[in-house]
Amino acid sequence: MTATEKDLREGGPVVVVPERMMAQRSQSHHGGFAASLETARKELDAMDLEEEALISPSSSTPETPGSPITPADIPTADSFAFAFDIDGVLIRGGRPLPEAIEAMKVLNGENEYGMKVPYIFLTNGGGKTEAERCIDLSRQLDIEVSPAQFICGHTPMREMVEKYETVLVVGGEGEKCRQVAEGYGFRDVITPGDIIKDNEHTTPFRKLTAEEKANSRTRNYGETKIEAIFVFADSRDWAGDIQIMLDLAMSKGGYIGTLSETFDEGPPIYFSHNDIVWSAAHDNVRLGMGALRKMVEMLFKDVTRGKELETIAFGKPQIGTFEFATRLLQQWRKDEHRINRPPETVYFVGDTPESDIRGTNQFNAKAKNEWYSILVRTGVFQEGTEPAYKPKVTVNTVLDAVKHGMKREFSKKMKEAGGDIAMNSLALKNLSTLNGDVGVKTPIVEVSESNTPEVRTPDV
Ligand SMILES: [Mg+2]
Repeated sequence: MTATEKDLREGGPVVVVPERMMAQRSQSHHGGFAASLETARKELDAMDLEEEALISPSSSTPETPGSPITPADIPTADSFAFAFDIDGVLIRGGRPLPEAIEAMKVLNGENEYGMKVPYIFLTNGGGKTEAERCIDLSRQLDIEVSPAQFICGHTPMREMVEKYETVLVVGGEGEKCRQVAEGYGFRDVITPGDIIKDNEHTTPFRKLTAEEKANSRTRNYGETKIEAIFVFADSRDWAGDIQIMLDLAMSKGGYIGTLSETFDEGPPIYFSHNDIVWSAAHDNVRLGMGALRKMVEMLFKDVTRGKELETIAFGKPQIGTFEFATRLLQQWRKDEHRINRPPETVYFVGDTPESDIRGTNQFNAKAKNEWYSILVRTGVFQEGTEPAYKPKVTVNTVLDAVKHGMKREFSKKMKEAGGDIAMNSLALKNLSTLNGDVGVKTPIVEVSESNTPEVRTPDV
């Protein structure tokens, strides 16, 4: 818990561990799920670069043996995993839901089956680095977490650093999103504050505070070509940010202060997700980034007298987010369990039918493994309404969701095993041995179909 963001960004594989677990770790711990997933993610990142150089993934993947498993260890399930949305499922208004803390304990081995279950987080929320989110969540839920377990709405933006030189970054507190973008590798990052500092008439009703003025960077914006706009997090000043985004969308090739005659020369605009509402501390849902996106598109049409503006959104429900999660879990399973396939079932727990359930169901229809959608009643979805996209099951809380998924898995395993084995942990350990777990080195099973799908292609 003493880790800082800098440690997480610059160190090797890092896992944030709650203090009460430190002693235990130093004695016997050799890295749990969080650590092994971190390794998998690093390999995946390296692979992306190598794929570009047309090196086949199989020849570039090091043969990393799974960590040795001592008898004292609780076995980790390898045939299924959980993926969680955060806001409205685990956290609400900055506080953990009590059932979320319980659910994490169950996944970490405090259950009748004597098993740990791997999990990742898929959140549309942004404005913080994956490392900061990791520190927050570890504290709030009292679990060990690695930044590698987080897939944020803006995670795919990391892949666009080569494509654009100068970018405008919108949203978030203060300089936060500039730091996130620079952390991703963007070389020249401009904020709305920089533009207002250069010309205070840009936003007639917004004046920079002394601190904003000090942080904003001076340059000649008349000579600066902004090649793309990235909305990393929710805007703190809709009027000013919309004004600047429209100015650029209507500009001649991304030069501030110019005006296109055809209104089709502006830079592309990327949003890290498209959720119109989200579940915050207020009783009713609050407006989110999807609402800002709608405003920008609608206003562009209005001020250009009918021209359409097409912007791009990442995050859930876009397929790319789910594909990336699948590849990450597959790499982890290959490293740890010597099986080169994603877990057979991923239970996705979310509170927003339009992004969580929609995305999970759509991906399930085309994925080679099963993505099972579970809707909870602790967030955006409210009982008494009809969800726009139907989940496989609706439960009260994330704890019920975890129990439902685990029960389903183990009754499935019972059936496969003939139905007459008592559901005790010894039997389950035997079952998982059949799957190549508990230290038995089985050969890596290769699947015939291509296991490197095109990832992170946003729908327009
Ligand atoms: Mg949510």
